[in-house]
Amino acid sequence: MGRSLLWFRRDLRLADLPALDAAAAGGEVVPVFVVDPLFTSRSGEPRRAFLAAALEALDHALGGALVVRHGDPHEVIPALAAEVEATAVHVSRDYGPYGRRRDAAVAEQLAAAGRRLIGTGSPYAVDPGTVTKADGTPYAVFTPFSRAWVATGWAAPSPGPTTVDWVGRPDVRSDRIPAAPRTDVALPPADEVAVHAHWQEFVADGLDRYDTARNFPGVPGTSRLSPALRWGIVHPRQLLADLGPTRAHDTFRSELGWREFYADVLLRASDSARVNLQQKMDAMPVDTDAQAHDRFAAWCAGQTGYPIVDAGMRQLLATGWMHNRVRMIVASFLVKDLHLPWQWGARHFMVHLVDGDLASNSHGWQWAAGTGTDAAPYFRVFNPTAQSERFDPDGDYLRRWLPELDGLDGKAIHQPGLFRPDAYPPPIVDHAAERDEALRRYKSVTGATR
Ligand code: FAD
Repeated sequence: MGRSLLWFRRDLRLADLPALDAAAAGGEVVPVFVVDPLFTSRSGEPRRAFLAAALEALDHALGGALVVRHGDPHEVIPALAAEVEATAVHVSRDYGPYGRRRDAAVAEQLAAAGRRLIGTGSPYAVDPGTVTKADGTPYAVFTPFSRAWVATGWAAPSPGPTTVDWVGRPDVRSDRIPAAPRTDVALPPADEVAVHAHWQEFVADGLDRYDTARNFPGVPGTSRLSPALRWGIVHPRQLLADLGPTRAHDTFRSELGWREFYADVLLRASDSARVNLQQKMDAMPVDTDAQAHDRFAAWCAGQTGYPIVDAGMRQLLATGWMHNRVRMIVASFLVKDLHLPWQWGARHFMVHLVDGDLASNSHGWQWAAGTGTDAAPYFRVFNPTAQSERFDPDGDYLRRWLPELDGLDGKAIHQPGLFRPDAYPPPIVDHAAERDEALRRYKSVTGATR
């Protein structure tokens, strides 16, 4: 029997891991995670802290055998494979633009030394690039993609190998798991067992109400599994296996489908992580002057004077997570009320979100900006006050993140500037005027108002 490396990346789990099944079938397995300086340099404290916790948990599950190396993977992995005399390196395939470039470089280096990089499975129920129309072309909008995605189907979760012959620490030298940065952020569970327990609680208590509760940020109506999905502590297959045919379950399945759709879109248009998918929107005028930077700073700090926007931005800073409805509201506000480039907001999100995922983030932003797939029609501009009244009617979410609004209720909490001019900043822009301005700019580019 031989020996191989199992290189963990976005799959920090041991259950239902096809790459592990493939590695274990070939003999001894050296488990390794590479701390890539590129990730560290682009991630805020909550993201780095969550990764550190997830690595500690994985190491614990491996009985302390996880080998950690710091450095550029395309140097570290071939060197480690040579050092431990592994004939192959097993991975879950990565479909992101950076991951594909990195893996191609690693595969080339390995091949030069007679070794192979073997990809088995991916972080998705259906590998990106698989779902196509009958003529082989990709879907450009979600609903038909989703239908075809469900029809393609996925395997049941794998029971996994019964035994694995791990070879790792202390026989193989390891760097330390990076120390978790000190952060006040209350992080979600990062270990596999706790994540599954959390999911089972949601199945028992939340899933059947998901379709009605998911839009209300003041109630715990969603799974909060996005960080665990981002890091592969749970695989979507494991969640899909628990879903039935009800409307609430269908809605949850469909949300997982959006994650898969955006990965598919990014695979086919890799620069859409940074540039408009719809090129006609490149001509849309955006503000980038000094005043724009001031407004951006107010948005980042949760000081816009619009409570639902400020609550969301403060939730992001305090927890590394934001409710989906509020992500849509703050994104719309940045693009259509402040007229800033969506990329500014997307970058801020990627630094702070523990679930920050290039495909879901860039395309969530492009949706809000009206530049991507299924874009919310540009002329349908979110009114932050109306959104707040509708989706947080009692102000529970607002009060949670904006302590200065304590004691306000009813209509007052949605427009505190009118009632607490000393305690709460006045709106930095006038929504009605900026809505007109957004529509004027849209018309100047497309010639259409709707
Ligand atoms: P649930 O409602 O419980 O949904 C279950 C899972 O489905 C989520 O964990 C997520 O993996 C997936 N999902 C749900 N909604 C979406 C969606 N609209 N698009 C893609 N996947 C979805 N999600 C990320 O995982 N990473 C990001 O970086 C990210 N950035 C976003 C940026 C913007 C501007 C917007 C509007 C949305 C973004 N989303 C992102 C999607 C969504 O907001 C989060 O996935 C969701 O809020 C996570 O909370 P949850 O786990 O409780 O979701």
